[in-house]
Amino acid sequence: MPLTSILVGGFQWVNLANTVYLRNGVQTDFIDNEESLLEYLVASHLLSPDEKDRLTPESRSQIYRLRDLFRRMLTDITERQLISETDLEKLNDIGKKISLEFHLVREVQDITSKITGKTKGDQIIFEILASFAETFEKAGMDRIRSCSHEECILFFVDVSKGGKRRWCSMESCGNRAKVSNFYSRKKDN
Ligand SMILES: [Zn+2]
Repeated sequence: MPLTSILVGGFQWVNLANTVYLRNGVQTDFIDNEESLLEYLVASHLLSPDEKDRLTPESRSQIYRLRDLFRRMLTDITERQLISETDLEKLNDIGKKISLEFHLVREVQDITSKITGKTKGDQIIFEILASFAETFEKAGMDRIRSCSHEECILFFVDVSKGGKRRWCSMESCGNRAKVSNFYSRKKDN
């Protein structure tokens, strides 16, 4: 499974959760070693290739902790439309550990502001946590879904106008479903 086919969540935190997926029916971890974790972070634009040595072991383990939390939360959200208070507290505990810097940036005549992490790890965790809040602002809880294909465990946020998206991606699961519907109809005839 190429990495791009699991980066379909639409938001960083959902993509992080999607690094656990089904390959031939077997639950598989895309980021089960340091190299693949870095590959995922680069593909997600959270890290540039020349920054690969700037992630501390502590930040790496926080990313895995985040993923476990997000996977559990996504299951709760898609099954019961609920986020546990304890899980939200755990997210905040991770958020409390990061250090941020506030910058004023000159853009020709204008001044804008920018918040960045003190370290690369802080920056990555900040972006992932911010994407979590952003999902609720931009889409809402009822738009957070799990793929309808029975052999897929990926999650996504449906930001389409009509809100009828069913598949993690039309190219993979949407087509897989169409093909199997076609064959089961043929069998019935
Ligand atoms: Zn799918």
